[in-house]
Amino acid sequence: MPYAAPASEFRFLLDHVVNFDQVTGTDTFGDATPDMRDAILTEAAKLCDEVLAPLQRNGDEHPARLENGIVRTSPGFAEGFKAIADGGWIGMSADPAYGGMGLPFTLTTAVNDMMSGACLSLQLNPLMCQGQIEALEHHASDAIKDLYLPKLISGQWCGTMNLTEPQAGSDVGALRSKATPNGDGSYAITGQKIYISWADNDFTENVCHLVLARLPDGVEGTKGISLFMVPKIIPNEDGTLGERNSLRVVSLEHKMGLHGSPTAVMEYDGARGWLVGPEHGGMAAMFTMMNNARVGVGTQGIGTAEAAYQHALAYAMERKQGRAGGSGTIVEHADVRRMLATMKAEVFAARSIAISNAIAIDMSTATGDAAWKARAALLTPISKAFGTDVGVETAATGIQVHGGMGFIEETGAAQFARDVRVTTIYEGTNGIQAMDLVARKMMDNGEAAFALMDEIEAAAEAAKEKCPDLAEPVWHACETLREATEWLVAQELTDRFAGAVPYLRAFARVLGGYYHLLAALHGDDSRERLATVYIKRMLPEHSALLAQVREGASDLMAISTDDLVA
Ligand SMILES: Cc1cc2nc3c(=O)[nH]c(=O)nc-3n(C[C@H](O)[C@H](O)[C@H](O)COP(=O)(O)OP(=O)(O)OC[C@H]3O[C@@H](n4cnc5c(N)ncnc54)[C@H](O)[C@@H]3O)c2cc1C
Repeated sequence: MPYAAPASEFRFLLDHVVNFDQVTGTDTFGDATPDMRDAILTEAAKLCDEVLAPLQRNGDEHPARLENGIVRTSPGFAEGFKAIADGGWIGMSADPAYGGMGLPFTLTTAVNDMMSGACLSLQLNPLMCQGQIEALEHHASDAIKDLYLPKLISGQWCGTMNLTEPQAGSDVGALRSKATPNGDGSYAITGQKIYISWADNDFTENVCHLVLARLPDGVEGTKGISLFMVPKIIPNEDGTLGERNSLRVVSLEHKMGLHGSPTAVMEYDGARGWLVGPEHGGMAAMFTMMNNARVGVGTQGIGTAEAAYQHALAYAMERKQGRAGGSGTIVEHADVRRMLATMKAEVFAARSIAISNAIAIDMSTATGDAAWKARAALLTPISKAFGTDVGVETAATGIQVHGGMGFIEETGAAQFARDVRVTTIYEGTNGIQAMDLVARKMMDNGEAAFALMDEIEAAAEAAKEKCPDLAEPVWHACETLREATEWLVAQELTDRFAGAVPYLRAFARVLGGYYHLLAALHGDDSRERLATVYIKRMLPEHSALLAQVREGASDLMAISTDDLVA
């Protein structure tokens, strides 16, 4: 079933739901005119539909493999990557001084969503590159920027992120990779990294690894970690390629899905690396890449959910079964209609949250305003976790819509579920995202969260006359969230952490209700019907979730490990 990238959906969102005009009204992003924006969405959609979507099955059926130390990628991926690079899509938001387009991150997020729906395993490569580009722009020396950024932005070289080690997963501070000064400004990097996405390929000249390691005087934990640029091939000062660095792909993982993306065990054996950011300041530098990637990974979930929805809808409109009435196809059954409406409404909610997150990032970049920065920081764990949860749940529902055929690989419904599953795990598991939301993002005693709730309640209040059936429940849900947040910020961390996941989801539910309400107010009847489904059927979940939050940790921690094994 062909994928159709949802460019028109983004036009509606940008014009009517998230106020993209405020971004283009700034000096920084004034060039992103409506004409340019439309051209970007149209061209990106064309690339997704015509070039990338046909590669999706190739990645699954012909996984990347390691042959004599060289990673061989899935058929067509080299051409697909070249098309992405040649179109300038990697450096859309990168600094024009190095060959980027300097466009709002909001547009990059829209394009990444569409590319994820087309071919998730290939899209992960440019996503990693974008994160690395941003980290270098903010933290690298001018020499590193001059040498690496133009090649990364053009797609001649690509980038990876290397945090994870066998004993250091969520707890990055436990890493053991070492860095020792060579005395010539470079460092010798030694250690093993695991699960490294796109650690090598057979289509870019070079692969640039951003590696976290500890200097000899680095203290234990995250405060003693530094970040290094460790290229596969060491470039000469003029950018030509020099000698091979002492690093290698040891093996590729056999994964549940995302087969087109090579996931490697990497060995660094005194490999030459160059410091990015200050000594022992590696986590701050890597966080630039991780925050970018977190929004991007949330978007991967949403893009995949969109593709799974399109797939399921097409099947449901053809499959005849039971006394369906109307067209005679299963789309006429109320339960199938429920599944499809849920999928569509969830995608809209998650996408609106991610795009609002991107808008806040752009406004923070353009204005330097602390409130926008706080808004962006607050929304990042929500868009990552909710976007990927929606990806996993929607892909699972997509299988259900197909009935038995969903379990049969040839329909492709199962691939979405297998591919997207990792998105709730990598880039910080969704549990870690939720803990980030209730701890670090509430260090302001909830100020950024309450500011957002003020906006939601004001919008719901204003909509009460025109759309009372939708506005009232959104206002009340937001008020319940406010009260729960007031309770939450007064609790010890253990109690907050016990309720972190349901709290994040409740927050996302309320945000989803808010954006559906705006869509109903500014869109056609079809938008109102979808908003009604979301607000009447999905939004009420917030109340049960917040009841869980208020239970704190005591009942969970009262379950002993003996109880668990009994
Ligand atoms: C396909 C794939 C690609 C990847 N790509 C990359 C990459 O490119 N670069 C890279 O560096 N890494 C990458 N990773 C690694 C990924 O980021 C980690 O798997 C992830 O951070 C989780 O770490 P872990 O697997 O060690 O799980 P663990 O940290 O062992 O977590 C296991 C469980 O315990 C929970 N948990 C752990 N600590 C806590 C805590 N303090 N409080 C509450 N719960 C906790 C987790 O939420 C999870 O449910 C990739 C992984 C996969 C599978």
